[in-house]
Amino acid sequence: MNITVTGMVGRRSGKLQLIEAAKFFAAQLMDPRMVRNLTVDIEVRRGLDVDGECVDEDGVRNPRWFTIGLKNQDIDEMIKVLAHEMVHVKQHAKNELQSGLMVATRGGMKMSSRWMGEIWKPEGKECHYYDSPWEIEAYGREVGLYQKWLAAQEAA
Ligand SMILES: [Zn+2]
Repeated sequence: MNITVTGMVGRRSGKLQLIEAAKFFAAQLMDPRMVRNLTVDIEVRRGLDVDGECVDEDGVRNPRWFTIGLKNQDIDEMIKVLAHEMVHVKQHAKNELQSGLMVATRGGMKMSSRWMGEIWKPEGKECHYYDSPWEIEAYGREVGLYQKWLAAQEAA
């Protein structure tokens, strides 16, 4: 797994922690063969308008190159957000999630996402973000991944 971190100016220990945490989360979420072929570029940005984001840079089936944007904040919070974004890396790498698909609709093109092979759209009271199956999984797993990371730090 090839990991780069940019934007952590003057925070060498923070940068190392992000790299270690990315490796730890990847090992929790994917098999070693998949992890070995991944490239993850972590970009820490002061002005990011969200806590984190995950971009599949390949845009193909079985993508292996990702950019994770993290808002520059307290390192523990950044590691928690990183756990969430690594769940999205897993979802893309395993072809569970394909996002940013352009779908032709009557009246124009629309951005859409495919989950487990099918286009997913919110229905009824569902919201496009919190009710999507990929965010439910990412929010659900970030808690456990972060707890396991803390436990591993204490054991070390
Ligand atoms: Zn998410």
